[in-house]
Amino acid sequence: MPELPEVEEAMQRLRAAVEGRTIAKVSTHHASHERQLPAASARRLRQQKIVRVERRGKHQLLHLENGSTLHAHFRMNGDWLMSRTDQPLDKFTRASIDLTDGSRIELHDSRALSSIKLHAKGENPLPKLGIEANDASLDADHLRAALSKKRGPIKPTLMDQAVIAGLGNIYAAEALWRAKISPRAISSSISPARLAKLAEAIHWVIENENRAPGRYTDTENRDRFEVYDREGLPCSRCGTKIKRIPQAGRSTYFCPKCQRS
Ligand SMILES: [Zn+2]
Repeated sequence: MPELPEVEEAMQRLRAAVEGRTIAKVSTHHASHERQLPAASARRLRQQKIVRVERRGKHQLLHLENGSTLHAHFRMNGDWLMSRTDQPLDKFTRASIDLTDGSRIELHDSRALSSIKLHAKGENPLPKLGIEANDASLDADHLRAALSKKRGPIKPTLMDQAVIAGLGNIYAAEALWRAKISPRAISSSISPARLAKLAEAIHWVIENENRAPGRYTDTENRDRFEVYDREGLPCSRCGTKIKRIPQAGRSTYFCPKCQRS
């Protein structure tokens, strides 16, 4: 699953490719994407200039001249593929944006879980989102306020996009390992000193664990994580075997010895 740095990088590629340019047509190439963006909606995109591209959390927004917004989300393994309108589409392309200058942006996604939707002017295309995971003001004080009423375990809370926007399964686990906090610790009961370590760990992980999108399950990449996908392997800090537990429907990896509640 793309984490925030990968989505940021993808958004910047998209921005460089489309900002200030005009859409010739938008097409969908998969049933679920066609449901999200029916032909009648896609037709309204023709001849629209893309005035601004931005990212909020893992959401990517293309703001159009008429005030409407094209909203894209990669989900598990989407990505942008830059091509030309005279080239054949890739077999995993789910939607494509043809520009009037002959360039084309393909929403490429082998699992077809990504999304693309059109929101009319005045409509908010985003769900409730918390502070950006890479925002410098995400510190102990911010975390204490954001977690004060959260009685659930910290790992799913960190992944709640309404609490922190852009933190996914991998980085939440890695940040908790760095901060030596158990994924099962009750969110509201973590001390300010440990929240300071957690904030630092989140920033460290986002700045340092940057890697190519969609390659998380490769062994060579797995070896670069401390806990994620490392069940049974030794913790690099204390040698204890990394454990995997289910939390909120996802796998959580952690060191049962040096990460405390
Ligand atoms: Zn350990």
